[in-house]
Amino acid sequence: MWTRDTDSSPAALRSNCACYRTSYDPQFGLPVVGEHYRTVGGDTDNWTYTTYTPLDLRPDDVFASLIIDGENGLFWARTADGALSLLPQEEGCGYGFGRTGGGPTALADYLTKLIASNGKDTTAGGPPYSIRTVDQQILTWVESKPKARHLELTLEELQAIQRG
Ligand SMILES: [Zn+2]
Repeated sequence: MWTRDTDSSPAALRSNCACYRTSYDPQFGLPVVGEHYRTVGGDTDNWTYTTYTPLDLRPDDVFASLIIDGENGLFWARTADGALSLLPQEEGCGYGFGRTGGGPTALADYLTKLIASNGKDTTAGGPPYSIRTVDQQILTWVESKPKARHLELTLEELQAIQRG
């Protein structure tokens, strides 16, 4: 289990608080670790949370919309019941916009499969990238780096993007 840092830890030398707390996401049961950082003077005082992304939504979940949090670089799925889940993703394979790194292709690949299955296939991963077919319209849209800081798109809206 996580324990409070002792005064002799390196973190404690930089700040007067470096502690952890654990909890879990009540919807999906995923563990969450919160890390507190507070400087001696208290000028900086914040919590950073870390959790896992799922490999899939739950069996009875129905995909309703994709949420893009451009400010924090996070991608979410909203279910028909209104539950929010981090967008399922493969281990070590983040999503992104623009043309940098593998994130845009991974996101376009996921959305391609999601749209092709009419929202039914929400699993991350699949066959090797080399033999997957990423939809070019979706990839172009992802690479165009939509400017909105917060964007929520239904399956119908994603399908409209694919049609171009
Ligand atoms: Zn603390």
